[in-house]
Amino acid sequence: MSHRTSASNSAADAQMEREEQANATVHIVKARLDARVVRVVPDAPKVRYLPGQYGSLGLPSATLPGRWIKRPYSVSSSILEVATGTLIDPEAVSYYEFYVNRVDAGKSAEPLTPRLFTLNDGDRIFCGRKIVGYYTLHAVPPQRHLLFVSTTTGESANNAMVNQALRERPGVRVCQVLVAVNGWRSLYAEEHAALMRCEPRYRYVVLQVDAYAAAEARLGAWLQDARCAADELGFVLDPAQSHVFLCGDPALIGAPTKQGAWRYERSQHGLIRPLTAAGFSLRTRFQPGTVDYEAYW
Ligand SMILES: Cc1cc2nc3c(=O)[nH]c(=O)nc-3n(C[C@H](O)[C@H](O)[C@H](O)COP(=O)(O)OP(=O)(O)OC[C@H]3O[C@@H](n4cnc5c(N)ncnc54)[C@H](O)[C@@H]3O)c2cc1C
Repeated sequence: MSHRTSASNSAADAQMEREEQANATVHIVKARLDARVVRVVPDAPKVRYLPGQYGSLGLPSATLPGRWIKRPYSVSSSILEVATGTLIDPEAVSYYEFYVNRVDAGKSAEPLTPRLFTLNDGDRIFCGRKIVGYYTLHAVPPQRHLLFVSTTTGESANNAMVNQALRERPGVRVCQVLVAVNGWRSLYAEEHAALMRCEPRYRYVVLQVDAYAAAEARLGAWLQDARCAADELGFVLDPAQSHVFLCGDPALIGAPTKQGAWRYERSQHGLIRPLTAAGFSLRTRFQPGTVDYEAYW
């Protein structure tokens, strides 16, 4: 016979709902006040996904009982084991890795990131079972050299594809450019340095800039001067031989904005403008192209 009161019943039900939804355990790999790399081990077997795709993380609402605060996050990668130089096989590990930066001026009633920064090793979290998205290598011909550009944690998706490209695309050269404002430093700096030491096909370039216009100017130089691109990126930035991935802050990406069913307005800033002027084209789900992008907001 049960001795529960109805009040304790509903508390138990609410607890059960939380338990049902918290379906993974957090391990903190690297932490700074403004950024974290976490590995999330799901209770159920991992689902298959393509490097570059995103899943979701969530915590119970602090104000609305029964509600969960969930946000999309790209699945990241540390790319290699620094001690051995071995590239990580994402299908052989038990975790999904995420790279999150703290957003203090969130737009929603209950922002998630400040709460993610209170988590400790072993805490429970919701980790969505759907991992989706088109920001992947699937449509890029296998011989193309790859330029990945990101702001802050836009590196997540790019790191996952850097790992895939180096494991699966022999002969392809890969360059990752981090556009850093306000002195931002990557939590993966050690991995990038180690990767450059053991993989001659890889370059990691940090552009510390005051404003994104400086990154546009640098990209302009790479597009116009083949020798400059070959020296700094490791390959000539030409739409016949290379593909560009842009991830993170929409202000750096500068994607066209939809104005009607078929009408788009070009952005007056960002990296897409110089790329398209140099003959690169945006890839969409419906047409091939040489530039992919993922804007985080
Ligand atoms: C497909 C996709 C993948 C994403 N992957 C990642 C990821 O791997 N790592 C990650 O840190 N974030 C990622 N984001 C952003 C993430 O989903 C959240 O928007 C972010 O963590 C802020 O959530 P919040 O609840 O704290 O803020 P909210 O209250 O939801 O406020 C959202 C606002 O915060 C700002 N914002 C959102 N993301 C950032 C950011 N990264 N840096 C600075 N300002 C931001 C924007 O102004 C946005 O409108 C991704 C977003 C999308 C759409």
